[in-house]
Amino acid sequence: MADYDLIVIGAGPAGLTAAVYGRRAGLGVLVLERTIAGGQMRLTGDIENWPGAVVTTGEELSEAMRNQAQAFGTEFKDAMVTGIEVAAKGGLGHTVKTNVGDLKAPAIIVATGAYHKNLDSDKAREMAGRGVSFCAICDGGFYRGKEVAVVGGGNAALEQAMYLTNHASKVHLIHRRDEFRAHRLVQDRLDKNPKIQKHLSHEVHDIKGTDGVEGLVLKDKKTGATKDLDVPGVFLFIGSAPHSGFLPPEIEKAPGGWIVTDRALKTSVPGIFAAGDVRDTELRQIVTAAADGALAAMGAYEYLQGLK
Ligand SMILES: Cc1cc2nc3c(=O)[nH]c(=O)nc-3n(C[C@H](O)[C@H](O)[C@H](O)COP(=O)(O)OP(=O)(O)OC[C@H]3O[C@@H](n4cnc5c(N)ncnc54)[C@H](O)[C@@H]3O)c2cc1C
Repeated sequence: MADYDLIVIGAGPAGLTAAVYGRRAGLGVLVLERTIAGGQMRLTGDIENWPGAVVTTGEELSEAMRNQAQAFGTEFKDAMVTGIEVAAKGGLGHTVKTNVGDLKAPAIIVATGAYHKNLDSDKAREMAGRGVSFCAICDGGFYRGKEVAVVGGGNAALEQAMYLTNHASKVHLIHRRDEFRAHRLVQDRLDKNPKIQKHLSHEVHDIKGTDGVEGLVLKDKKTGATKDLDVPGVFLFIGSAPHSGFLPPEIEKAPGGWIVTDRALKTSVPGIFAAGDVRDTELRQIVTAAADGALAAMGAYEYLQGLK
């Protein structure tokens, strides 16, 4: 017999919203989380783009979402999911393998999110959320009228650097190679933006500041010379990756490991849905993750109705 109707893996905004919608549809829902509910919101200080709240904090929003899911009767379990065994045709459900045992459910929502690659330095890790940012849309507004830095050379770095010029007085774009990897068209647009200053063949050698970023020391990769940049914020776009390594090959993934879904957020395996940042999607934000959670839960409900 299945243990639950629906198992949600991950308690970020996607997973917690899925739990609310699943419970309100009358499903028995278990949420598995390896750390603490909230996901990447926990790494966020102020949030200015959650509808209805002019400003809230990541911690407040995490608590509120978790409490709401719990108020509707969601069960939570601290567990690290290590794999999924896809049900045989006509079987009793998929098996979710965790560090605290196996659990069965006919419907599963994978909402395990993603992570942004950081610079390989203790200082950068320490300063994440205190001037080291991975999201221009989220944090750009905190730098109105100030100079900021962007690290990276791909499309994301260049697009986000241009986005930041809506807020910042100047954007320093730092890339370790002597040319960008971004598409030519994107580079042409960048070249027309007078607020961007390029620092090619440079890398971040040090981050200055104790409670928050106060500046950067850049190193010229060709000459070894260093120079200071007085910026209170640095945005890193040096790659991101989904938490999808534990999933079986039956679940189709796009290059990079992002889960492929249809418009109803079904994966390639019947009964398994994906929601939020882990998905192959265009925008990774709290509001889109929450919307995904709702869609996936309603998809799971429809799927379960079809099994009756
Ligand atoms: C520093 C920072 C600031 C941001 N600021 C904003 C902002 O201001 N506004 C905004 O809209 N967006 C912001 N974002 C982006 C936003 O937080 C994400 O888009 C959103 O949290 C994604 O939600 P999610 O539920 O898909 O995944 P996540 O929030 O990543 O949650 C996934 C959860 O799954 C858990 N998990 C992963 N693997 C497993 C496993 N194997 N077993 C069990 N549990 C697992 C994780 O521990 C995590 O709790 C920010 C992101 C960062 C990093």
